[in-house]
Amino acid sequence: MKIAIASGKGGTGKTTLSVNLTAWIREIADRPVMLVDLDVEEPNTGMFLEGTVIERSVRYRKIPRWKQETCILSGECAGVCMYNAIAFLGNSVMVFPELCHGCYACSDLCPSHSLPMVDDRIGEVTLYQASLPGSRKVFPWIEGRLDIGREMATPMIARTIRYAEDHGERSQIILFDAPPGTSCPMMEAAKRSDYLLLVAEPTRFGLHDLGLAVKTLKELGKPFAVVVNKDDPAITLIDDFCATEEIRIVARIPHLREAAGIYAGGGLLYGKIPEVRREMEKVYRHILEISEETKTG
Ligand code: SF4
Repeated sequence: MKIAIASGKGGTGKTTLSVNLTAWIREIADRPVMLVDLDVEEPNTGMFLEGTVIERSVRYRKIPRWKQETCILSGECAGVCMYNAIAFLGNSVMVFPELCHGCYACSDLCPSHSLPMVDDRIGEVTLYQASLPGSRKVFPWIEGRLDIGREMATPMIARTIRYAEDHGERSQIILFDAPPGTSCPMMEAAKRSDYLLLVAEPTRFGLHDLGLAVKTLKELGKPFAVVVNKDDPAITLIDDFCATEEIRIVARIPHLREAAGIYAGGGLLYGKIPEVRREMEKVYRHILEISEETKTG
């Protein structure tokens, strides 16, 4: 089962939940689990994990390359491109790779086959064997990383997910640390997931961004629940919203000074803070529930 851990904005504790939940599932529940860092523009799960590199693999997308020698300047390609990624300049055709969405339309419709699709490097995927401090248990951890200077994260996210699917097992829980926000990168991760956990902080900004994320997932028709991070029982902003929207809150990671210190040192919280350990178990139980419902439903 593929579960994306997402949020309407960055800095809500998405990666904290991703790494702590993965490590808890592997160490305490003793279940096979894989962690995939899909925040390809700024992957940061490595701040909390140590691992041995198993494989590095370059990822490519396809873009058209103009073949001047066969081109008859029909104009089909520029006319069909919805993204203005092709332009005529005098007697030549220019392709703007940073605008190209790789839809193949220009290549397929060119009457003289003068725009063959070719590989274009966009980034690198690394497969690690992650180890846990004081434990012999290990788990696969995948990091997608977009090359510096690349604008489009979505193709890299799609290729990182495909790589994870190729390297995962059917019985395994696969956790995606999704990119923040509600634009194309987050939607790509959401579309390719079976279920989502939205991490939200009980602040006005947190509520606003949770509202955007909820709207996005409802439009995509994806099932989801909420995990409150930095929970404060005196602030009910997220609770009130979730009650109105009939959204389940599955866990609450408490707002503790001790947690901030461990986080700043790159440590895992569940091993040192019993309240966090208890909440990781709640999230895991919820994953088992929805996994059963998916099988029977
Ligand atoms: S592949 Fe699609 S998006 Fe890219 S240049 Fe051709 S028509 Fe435009």
